[in-house]
Amino acid sequence: MDKKLLGLLACPVCKGELKLNESKTELVCYQDAMAFPVREGIPVMLATEARTLSTDERLDKR
Ligand SMILES: [Zn+2]
Repeated sequence: MDKKLLGLLACPVCKGELKLNESKTELVCYQDAMAFPVREGIPVMLATEARTLSTDERLDKR
């Protein structure tokens, strides 16, 4: 995904920073422990579509 685009994206819940995961399939907000799906390169910034991070994932801050 375009790095510039990523820089413009903020978490819809807390307006915080999002991090793209390693497989580039999700944008993660560690603040809320939520992961937003990226479908065909398009981030889906809807809290209703987001997945809750597991405990392990929450600790995996890189
Ligand atoms: Zn957030």
